[in-house]
Amino acid sequence: MPATEPDQLTRYECNGFKFPDRDYYDRHVVFDHVVSLGTATQRERFEAVSRTLRDLLTQRWIKTAETHDRANPKQVYYLSMEFLIGRSLMNNIINLDVEQFVRDDLRSDPRQDWKEVLEQEPDAGLGNGGLGRLAACFIDSLATLQIPAIGYGLRYDYGIFRQELSNGYQVEQPDPWLTRPDPWEVSRPGESVTVPLASAFEVHAGQITVQRGKSMSLLGVPFDRPVVGYGGQTVNTLRLWQAATPDVFDFGEFSGGDFFGAVSNRVLAESITRVLYPDDSTPRGQSLRFLQEYFLVRCSLADIIARFRKRGNDWSALPDKVAVQLNDTHPAMAVPELMRILLDIAHLGWNEAWNLTTRTLAYTNHTLLPEALEKWPVGLFESLLPRHLEIIYEINRRFLDDVRAKHPGDEEKLARVSLIEESPARRVRMANLAIVGTHSTNGVAAIHTDLLRSKTVADLADLFPGRFNNKTNGVTPRRWLQLANPDLAKMLTDATGGGWVTDLPRLKGIDSLATDAGFQKKFLAAKRGAKVRFVDWIKATAGIELDPDTLFDVQIKRIHEYKRQLLNAVQCVVWYNRLRANPKLDVPPRTVLVAGKAAPAYHLAKVIIKLFTSIAGVVNTDPATRGKLRVEFLPNYSCTLAEHLIPAADVSEQISTAGYEASGTSNMKFMMNGALTVGTRDGANIEIAEEAGEENCFMFGLTAEQVLASRGWYAPYWHYENEPETGAALDLIFNNHFNPDEPGIFEPVRETLLTKGDYYMHLADLGAYVRTQEAVAALYRDTSAWAKKAIHNVARSGKFSSDRTITQYADEIWGAKPCPVE
Ligand SMILES: *Cc1c(COP(=O)(O)O)cnc(C)c1O
Repeated sequence: MPATEPDQLTRYECNGFKFPDRDYYDRHVVFDHVVSLGTATQRERFEAVSRTLRDLLTQRWIKTAETHDRANPKQVYYLSMEFLIGRSLMNNIINLDVEQFVRDDLRSDPRQDWKEVLEQEPDAGLGNGGLGRLAACFIDSLATLQIPAIGYGLRYDYGIFRQELSNGYQVEQPDPWLTRPDPWEVSRPGESVTVPLASAFEVHAGQITVQRGKSMSLLGVPFDRPVVGYGGQTVNTLRLWQAATPDVFDFGEFSGGDFFGAVSNRVLAESITRVLYPDDSTPRGQSLRFLQEYFLVRCSLADIIARFRKRGNDWSALPDKVAVQLNDTHPAMAVPELMRILLDIAHLGWNEAWNLTTRTLAYTNHTLLPEALEKWPVGLFESLLPRHLEIIYEINRRFLDDVRAKHPGDEEKLARVSLIEESPARRVRMANLAIVGTHSTNGVAAIHTDLLRSKTVADLADLFPGRFNNKTNGVTPRRWLQLANPDLAKMLTDATGGGWVTDLPRLKGIDSLATDAGFQKKFLAAKRGAKVRFVDWIKATAGIELDPDTLFDVQIKRIHEYKRQLLNAVQCVVWYNRLRANPKLDVPPRTVLVAGKAAPAYHLAKVIIKLFTSIAGVVNTDPATRGKLRVEFLPNYSCTLAEHLIPAADVSEQISTAGYEASGTSNMKFMMNGALTVGTRDGANIEIAEEAGEENCFMFGLTAEQVLASRGWYAPYWHYENEPETGAALDLIFNNHFNPDEPGIFEPVRETLLTKGDYYMHLADLGAYVRTQEAVAALYRDTSAWAKKAIHNVARSGKFSSDRTITQYADEIWGAKPCPVE
């Protein structure tokens, strides 16, 4: 092949894209893999398709970076320990708007099986759940809105574990998603960053042992992934850091003869980004995680500052040119790290450094659960990051002086707001550090921000009232509607004239069609099409056979007590009992679908999975329920599973204990796809009901206020003893009806629901929940009435586009504007 400029190899141009021709694809198949066109596997064809598309976006990607360097606009940097990206191929095809080209050219390979090609791509599962998926939706919206932005994260060798079921129990399998070359990423070893540590360390089972008196450094190697905005005008970058060792050999040890020891240090360094911690909302305090967080912050801030200086900016311009958003407290070490850079490298005075730091950084809080707040032992800082600890102490000294001046004599307040918790052990409170060290703290739904302000960090909110603000979450309509639900998407485009993909409120245009019989019919046909597609896919990938002509009642999310999958499980048993007592009971056939991963060390969450699989085993074989109730726990919940299942759902289960779900985002995906929400007044459910209209949702249960007000006297036994259906359902579970071969395994369920007081108040809400499900069943009977409500939900989902969320961040927190790439 002659060395030709990409421009000269293009066959045609459209939309400002220079299209590579089919030769590019053939060349990637043959030369990247050294196989003949005839013998290449579908995996090799997947890589070739993807590499051809990367070729196609490369020029825009380069031009985006050049434009940003030249224009020197205010740039957004989104720091997150998680990016739950999922697959990229279809997403990039849609965002590049090249479906036609792909169909005509790349799919003209006669040996290619397109469905198989798509299945070859592993999910980039670099996140646990909502927080990581939010980061992925945000970078999509940033690129679509043409805002100059870079996402920074870690390139874990192993993403979130793959969940298998064995005898109904969760079994975790590693997720080595990078064993095959990833066609999207570009490694840039020339832009590596050195990360010094005050002490060397060793790793044993996720805990590090510090070796005092000996320092060491790590190397951060960047891997860039393109983030294509819809229409392909802006291609931003997601930069993921991989840990390596700076010196191939530690020469001291090598010349001393310890060749093996020197080389094994490489393995040690690489272990920093080996694996994503699989805990959602509950930090386990592993010291290796502390190093991961520091590694992300150190690499990313070095990169941000290098870009800032390269553009010729003066230090004083930092907050005018740079906005750094911290996704939860995980990257909160950015506060002392930016101070260190400004004090020790820029040699600024404390006051100026502090002013620049707080104006540059902003923080998003994601949870109200007290056990979820990160606190790192002072000892970890002392041995590994003593300079950072020194800076934290000085921040705290000055801060507490200010508080003392405002509230003289209030020692208890001082202890509550201090960045350092003194007992039971001395630890750094990362949330306090993030609130004090940034100019903005936002919650992720209106109720969440209110509770954050008034309860969780009330003292700090009093001290900095202007810093607190709300940014209700959103999801990208590109992935969650256009990609996931092509039939509905086409219908919406036909009915609205298009434009909704980047302007979701335009869906309001179909609101008046909700009562139109023809439109209802089309809507129901699209829903059935999505169900059939899901049924085919789950049969092919998991071997599970489902009936598309039943109500699909779906709860998919991480397994957590506060999300109350147990409430759903007990409800299933109530219906099972009703059907056993009266097999002629007239209810529409319902398929209850549940999926979600349990943190490997979260025992009760794993018991809940076993409870669902056990209920399924009995209910699905009992003649009394045949054709009426089916319960299925689907393995390995992931982005890809969500993309297939959400379009097929009729009912969206959002039943957390009010006051505990910060926002939720799957609730928004379901709404856009025309599922009706069965939900508590929690998180974004409240705003969903506001937008859709109460009459188009099924809201039930205690409010957050009622939950707090009844904490003192709530007694789950009352419900167990006085509500016959509650007692009967629980007794069936406790008496081993669903687990005759493994008696006693559900004792933890009895404990949490009764003995230990039912902290999440399942039994308080069970009666209202069952009555709500009766109303759901009744409505489902009336196809037209159902379709009307579902269409209203789709039409009124405009608020929940992440484009709206990101526009608010840009206007109200970052002061960032679009910077079009010409
Ligand atoms: C949207 C999404 C989540 C968040 O779900 P919630 O129900 O809001 O907790 C988690 N995991 C995946 C794969 C998702 O797509």
